[in-house]
Amino acid sequence: VDATPECWVLVEAPRGRILRQSLEALGAARALLPPAPPSLTVVWAGEPADRAQREQLRALGVARLHGLPGPGAAPSSRWEDVCLAGLRTLYRNRRPAWLVAGDTPFSRALAPRLAVLEGAGYVPRVSYVRRVGNGLQLTRPLVQGRLAEIVRLAGDCPGVVCVASGAFPLPRPAARAGAEPPSWEPAPAPDPAPVPACGELLHRSETPAHALDIEDAGVVVAGGKGMGSRENFALLEELAVLLGGCVAASRIAVDLGWAGRDRLVGQTGRKISPELYVACGISGAPQHRAGLRDPRYLLAINTDPEAPIFRTATWAVVGDALELLPAWIRQLKGAGA
Ligand SMILES: Cc1cc2nc3c(=O)[nH]c(=O)nc-3n(C[C@H](O)[C@H](O)[C@H](O)COP(=O)(O)OP(=O)(O)OC[C@H]3O[C@@H](n4cnc5c(N)ncnc54)[C@H](O)[C@@H]3O)c2cc1C
Repeated sequence: VDATPECWVLVEAPRGRILRQSLEALGAARALLPPAPPSLTVVWAGEPADRAQREQLRALGVARLHGLPGPGAAPSSRWEDVCLAGLRTLYRNRRPAWLVAGDTPFSRALAPRLAVLEGAGYVPRVSYVRRVGNGLQLTRPLVQGRLAEIVRLAGDCPGVVCVASGAFPLPRPAARAGAEPPSWEPAPAPDPAPVPACGELLHRSETPAHALDIEDAGVVVAGGKGMGSRENFALLEELAVLLGGCVAASRIAVDLGWAGRDRLVGQTGRKISPELYVACGISGAPQHRAGLRDPRYLLAINTDPEAPIFRTATWAVVGDALELLPAWIRQLKGAGA
């Protein structure tokens, strides 16, 4: 590995929000590089990153941002091939020491093809990285975790790595983040050499937002004991669908059977970092807040003006959630509040 290796990360943002798996890839990229890593380069797949997303990347230590052609650039059945052609052109110009990608269908489709076409070493499902001397050893589990193998790339062979889902922490803000968000650099026109098509995508089904895992949802509408009953949780479901998000709950609400255990946010539940967290009838105990990892916006509705949840809320609404939620839902449906 070069003394100052370049590290690229393939980041996907299919619904305008960076996927958790891509954030894990950014976290893994830190582990791949020396303690004071050179700045990261992101190759972005999705609609062009907006200012807020570029700011998010800046805070995570990303200095360069290359955009692959957006989903509208080709019929969906051809989009991966078009992205691969763009990625290949970019990659060929600089041959980064590492290209890291998350555990997603898109990355799993692109990464091995890029590695074969460009003569890089491909290591899938990496769960652990260890620095030994100047080199790196990558561990990946096999046979559902019953076996593991440790891989080292030969000499200065560049690596294309997919990281196992959940194996690496989400990245914290970088100590050496740049002052300005990285500018958007669209991928250059692909080289004329066509990318061999290895298959045709016939159909892709997508989980509706309200059925998403709460760790993957951009909008999370959560309820606590203050919602009063299981029936009232239907209001949260309705709002979540209208906002394109899903429902979560506090420990008491889960213990009362108002929501499933997979919806629990907190110390003993899931750790989430949505764009918007709507907390309804949740006091904001430390054990609950332990599950909130820097949500971008937190809107709290609570009858108690002293509720601890208000201390970290972006917007504090003192009021009865059982009155406010139906009014909000009516407004979103266009009927007026
Ligand atoms: C070891 C340990 C681990 C724990 N782990 C977790 C965890 O992972 N996740 C978790 O959530 N908790 C956890 N807890 C429990 C935690 O301490 C709290 O008891 C719990 O989070 C409180 O849930 P709540 O906010 O729904 O209920 P409460 O604390 O009872 O709060 C209800 C809130 O609703 C408000 N309210 C009432 N009526 C209305 C209304 N009509 N409209 C609006 N607001 C209203 C009230 O003012 C109040 O603030 C843990 C506790 C322990 C000891």
